[in-house]
Amino acid sequence: STAAACLSVRELSVHYGGVQAVSSVGFTVEPGQSVGIIGANGAGKTSTLKALMGLVPRSGGSIRLGDKDLTRVRARDMVRHGIGYVPEGRHVFPGLPVEKNLLLGAYSRAWDKDTHRQLDEIYTLFPVLRDMRGRLAGALSGGQQQMLAIGRALMTRPRLLVLDEPSMGLSPKLVGTILDVLLRLREEGLSLLLVEQNAKLTFGATSHCVVMENGRVAMRGTSAQLSHDPRVREVYLGL
Ligand code: ATP
Repeated sequence: STAAACLSVRELSVHYGGVQAVSSVGFTVEPGQSVGIIGANGAGKTSTLKALMGLVPRSGGSIRLGDKDLTRVRARDMVRHGIGYVPEGRHVFPGLPVEKNLLLGAYSRAWDKDTHRQLDEIYTLFPVLRDMRGRLAGALSGGQQQMLAIGRALMTRPRLLVLDEPSMGLSPKLVGTILDVLLRLREEGLSLLLVEQNAKLTFGATSHCVVMENGRVAMRGTSAQLSHDPRVREVYLGL
């Protein structure tokens, strides 16, 4: 059932020692919606995602996915509850073949019909990964590794896919490829939460955005509105 597949983050806060990196941040991702978090370096975007995933301690806040309260769920169990996570910097296993990397994303280590079907779906989404299935992940280009990282997260069949800076270090052409992929996932009805410094990618891939500044939500609105906002354009697009 996808009816209740909606993320709700409320009053999320993160402290590192005495420094408050995230201050009472709240947002929702409606079913099938694609939401972006943008903001300058150090605005608190990555800390917000890590706190959502349980990867850094929260000093306050609650997390719900559909009708489930995930506030006390540990990071390693988030996947089982339907949140797929593509961390900043990709973190594929360079010494393992592409297909092995994908299989490590699956629940079951044994081959079954589901695994085959899931692999096939990912190879359809990323034909280049099918061509390279036997190659070591470390031999792939940055863009191909990003596709592999996304593919691995999809192996868990998430209701919500969370991506941290998928464009980092990629050429403009490869950023375009990532945008195409995100749009296809969105068309398939997957809910997305995207953290990016690349505002063009974010506005292109999302319907709504949250703008963070100094650990707080400074603005929120539709991506179309925000992309035309003079302040956003000046600060984040350099226009
Ligand atoms: P970037 O795009 O550079 O990752 P960001 O918007 O994701 O920026 P965060 O990485 O969440 O921002 O950082 C928010 C604030 O918290 C910054 O002031 C940063 O210096 C601080 N910070 C982040 N991680 C830690 C840490 N482990 N210990 C102490 N301070 C940290």
